[in-house]
Amino acid sequence: MLNVLTVDVEEYFHPTEVQATVNQSRWTALPSRIDDQISRILDLLDSKSTKATFFILGWVADRHPRTVQKIVAAGHEIACHSYAHQLVYSLTPQEFRIDTRRAVACIEDASGVTPHVYRAPSYSITKKSLWALEILVEEGFTHDSSIYPIAHDRYGMPGSARFAHIIETPAGPIKELPIATVKLSGDRVAPIGGGGYLRLLPYRYTSAGIRRLNRDERQPACVYFHPWEIDAEQPRLASSLIARLRTYTGVKGMPQKLDRLLTEFQFSTFSDVCDEVGRSSAAITQ
Ligand SMILES: [Zn+2]
Repeated sequence: MLNVLTVDVEEYFHPTEVQATVNQSRWTALPSRIDDQISRILDLLDSKSTKATFFILGWVADRHPRTVQKIVAAGHEIACHSYAHQLVYSLTPQEFRIDTRRAVACIEDASGVTPHVYRAPSYSITKKSLWALEILVEEGFTHDSSIYPIAHDRYGMPGSARFAHIIETPAGPIKELPIATVKLSGDRVAPIGGGGYLRLLPYRYTSAGIRRLNRDERQPACVYFHPWEIDAEQPRLASSLIARLRTYTGVKGMPQKLDRLLTEFQFSTFSDVCDEVGRSSAAITQ
């Protein structure tokens, strides 16, 4: 079965965990590492003949257009990860619209591609920010991957649909493909599709989860990771103990685990797999 591989293209100082200690005003003064990281990822994907979807931060597209062009030239899908990596539920609808328009403009300028797939920073479309989906439809987005159907301290919508589904908004429908989870006992689900789980836990946690999803539930797994997660040399800016553990543990072993994952499972782009799932109406849940 074809699974979905996605990369959230942001610098090591953009994750919400790091922003707690690194103010936005410092971003331009920090050394960039994104170009080398993306080159390594593109080489890995090329070696496995795998295409992926890259959710680009507008701020990165603005400063590193050539990096975005390399992704396009390698045949991968370009998607949008906001402009400034602000949590959606911390913005007003108007601020969210402005941030989204700015991101799309920067991504278009850098790549010549208009993104139609959106992922919110830190999966911050939750029950309190569902209004964002209507704005995304109005701004031309057809697909979204911002809702994580789990309970987490900062994000998540426990109980929401785990597989590809259509969400109706007042502005029209948008297709949602959540990050992979597996079903536990009762109503509980466990996340398996995050780069953090691949980094922090033994490889078999992710591989067994994907296998279970593909085999038992006949569903593709949507997996994501970040360029900084393969970079053992990055400056370690996160300061709290929990933030440091979440952000830097397992970074050294990550390239090897990714290599193994891409060998063991088949992956493609978000649109490829989502449209394939959409053709089977039985797979669409409301
Ligand atoms: Zn992000």
